[in-house]
Amino acid sequence: MDPLPTEVDVLVIGHGPVGAALAALLGRYGTRVLVIDKAADILMAPRAIALDNEALRILQMIGLAEDAFEKIAIPQVRMHCPLVGEFGRVNTSGSIDGHPKLVTFYQPDLERALREQAASHPSVTALGSIEWLDHEQQAGQVIARLRLADGQVRSVRAKYLVGADGAGSSVRKAIGEDFDGKTYAEDWLIIDARNVPGDFDHVEFICDPRRPTPHMVAPGGRIRWEFMLRPGETREDMEKDETIARLLAPWAASDSLKIERKAVYRFHARSCQHYSKGRVFLIGDAAHITPPFVGQGLVAGLRDAANLAWKLAWVVSGRASPGILDSYDHERRPHATKMIALAKLMGQLVMPRNRAMAFLVHGSMKLLRLVPALRRLLDELGVKPKNEFDAGLFAPGRASMRRGGQLPQGLVRSAAGEILLSDEALGDSLNLVSFGVDGATRLSDETGRRWTSRGGGFVHFRLRGSQSPGSPDSFEDLDNRLIPGGAPCGWCAVVRPDRTILHDGPVADAERIVGESLALLEGTGIS
Ligand SMILES: Cc1cc2nc3c(=O)[nH]c(=O)nc-3n(C[C@H](O)[C@H](O)[C@H](O)COP(=O)(O)OP(=O)(O)OC[C@H]3O[C@@H](n4cnc5c(N)ncnc54)[C@H](O)[C@@H]3O)c2cc1C
Repeated sequence: MDPLPTEVDVLVIGHGPVGAALAALLGRYGTRVLVIDKAADILMAPRAIALDNEALRILQMIGLAEDAFEKIAIPQVRMHCPLVGEFGRVNTSGSIDGHPKLVTFYQPDLERALREQAASHPSVTALGSIEWLDHEQQAGQVIARLRLADGQVRSVRAKYLVGADGAGSSVRKAIGEDFDGKTYAEDWLIIDARNVPGDFDHVEFICDPRRPTPHMVAPGGRIRWEFMLRPGETREDMEKDETIARLLAPWAASDSLKIERKAVYRFHARSCQHYSKGRVFLIGDAAHITPPFVGQGLVAGLRDAANLAWKLAWVVSGRASPGILDSYDHERRPHATKMIALAKLMGQLVMPRNRAMAFLVHGSMKLLRLVPALRRLLDELGVKPKNEFDAGLFAPGRASMRRGGQLPQGLVRSAAGEILLSDEALGDSLNLVSFGVDGATRLSDETGRRWTSRGGGFVHFRLRGSQSPGSPDSFEDLDNRLIPGGAPCGWCAVVRPDRTILHDGPVADAERIVGESLALLEGTGIS
């Protein structure tokens, strides 16, 4: 049988980590997906190394088991300047929403796990050595022309097309989008090495104006070093064995090290103006690229995938109006832009232009940390933009919870006594989540039927110690993370499959809250 389908719901161009994440999520929702890549296999070049708790929560949503790929939890990120000494120390120990705040990993392992997860869904077809050439948008569909490995050109029809084709995205150019923003003139040599002696366990930024050098521990006994090139240094010279031996000499003798990967990169801080046009969407590096100083390039791509996947799935299955797809750009672009700004700020800390600037910038940071409130803000990642939206697919106004923000995750106990992370209780549905009092019982039969026909489910979180009603949808909130503080009992929220809060209010108003949420999905708006 010909493996290339002629018609699918969603055609994903690019099977990098972000395309694979989107395909795996769409597969969970049962959407018919074709994901193609012009390369035959996974790219082995040294790229992403760090993921935060938000990325790990999305990987949980995708269905990756905790041990699906190897990780190292990072206890702290230290910043050191030869002129003023240590000037920053970010506490990355502990967890947020059930996941470590920061881990390092090996990108090819993660990509393999994501591809396996995508392939495990019968509705997903993944094919390599196929190149997207162009596409045409017509009423109700997109027709893409693809070139197969043997040179044949074939057409595939899809309801929607997603460009996950990386920083050089041709899909982006085809929809008339370009990158705004800055290209850093500096080039960086990235080295991954094994057999490094010592017990190095964290991330360290040596912010030396002569040659900034971040380095970090990674799984498989690896250490990653990043060396900024000086004016006049070339890629060819820097990638030579003798140069690498000289650069790594302060850490280890070259004969003991196994250099696994080396590559010179130029970093960019850029985003396009619109992440979608008609039936075409851009995700991951195709939409935005950032210097890796805060480790957020792939993380931002995973956020894109989580945000877009359920919306596409709901629209192609007729459970939501196509109008909800506009919210992908409204929600994701401002947040991706804020992350790029943070990475640029970090770049200024890492790469001061000269000794005077280093003394000024790093010295000021050191002084700021003497003020306890500022020290807490800097050390506890308070400067990281929250994953919450000011505009998008959620009810306007404010009640008790942050609409457009994320529902926290904690540990819960099921009626059968099983202890699990609360997102497992939410599953893949849109949910009416009620706290204390069970909201499902407050809906009329008619609204309850409309809700479930639109992919709605019910989850009830009870205070720890309260008696179980025996329902499979009812869970005990074991660490008091879920029940909102302002209104502990008798509150409810509509939570999207990407864990964003769409609406909330007293359980007594559940009928209205569900009705208004359905109106938002149906694109009729809240009257
Ligand atoms: C040195 C370095 C360090 C980094 N560190 C971090 C970090 O610590 N944390 C983090 O979150 N991010 C980091 N990043 C960023 C991260 O690596 C990228 O954001 C991520 O890999 C992008 O994934 P993607 O799937 O969007 O694109 P890609 O991985 O580039 O995948 C795009 C795919 O599309 C395919 N393709 C392209 N054109 C076509 C076509 N016409 N037809 C078919 N297929 C096509 C390509 O073959 C490719 O497989 C780092 C990047 C670099 C370079």
